[in-house]
Amino acid sequence: MKRRLLTVLALSAAVAPTTPAGAEEYLSGIRWEKPPVVDPGKTDDAPPSDAVVLFGGEDASAWENQENWKVEDGTLISGKGYLTTKQEFGDCQLHIEWSAPTPPKGEGQGRGNSGVFMMGKYEIQVLDSYQNETYADGQAGAIYKQTPPMVNATRPPGEWNTYDIFWTAPRFHEDGSLKSPASITAVHNGVLILNHFTLLGDTPFTRPPEYQAHEPRGPIALQDHGNPVRFRNIWVREIKPPVGERVRDPYLRDGDKETPLPKQAD
Ligand code: MG
Repeated sequence: MKRRLLTVLALSAAVAPTTPAGAEEYLSGIRWEKPPVVDPGKTDDAPPSDAVVLFGGEDASAWENQENWKVEDGTLISGKGYLTTKQEFGDCQLHIEWSAPTPPKGEGQGRGNSGVFMMGKYEIQVLDSYQNETYADGQAGAIYKQTPPMVNATRPPGEWNTYDIFWTAPRFHEDGSLKSPASITAVHNGVLILNHFTLLGDTPFTRPPEYQAHEPRGPIALQDHGNPVRFRNIWVREIKPPVGERVRDPYLRDGDKETPLPKQAD
């Protein structure tokens, strides 16, 4: 019992260290800029103050081909042809909500099919995957033909599904060769379904995935797959990493005494 108590004490000391006088403090040597303040809104699904609202319930003018889709009851309904944003995005956080037609019609890939195409090329599948069998790497939340989602968190048709997508764009060398692949993390209805998945390339139906050099930014597109899938509350934020500058090597500080630490890679 005594030993256990000591272990607990030791653990809590490690988790929440105090800084008594005379203790050394670790300093990284990086001067960080203050992160910009973002107003997150009243709820987690509201567009934060630095988001671009792509569809808030009425105005679909952020999209090309909107005249061939329908705005009804605050929702955007899949129509003829893909819907494509006029603005282009690179690394970004995308929030989008979708609802499969009810009553459900069709089977497999024919039931509530649409898709969110990052940079117009890389599809995260939208499908009515509630009690609807299809191939795993084609169900809702799949990176089409590359990976299934880790779990199926789809709500029944007619209810609203949320995707929160965290996208890192691929990078290309000047000669067009791949410098770093795209990756994606996605949360479906609050459930993690893709965890920093590295894409093998684009997501066509008829050939293997491949990378072909493209611009650092591209549009977000929504698929027309012949099913009247509804969308709402679509917003996107550019991802900008924290800004810092190494001004010296890391060190330990104890009052006026400084002990240099080995150089670290930034
Ligand atoms: Mg699709």
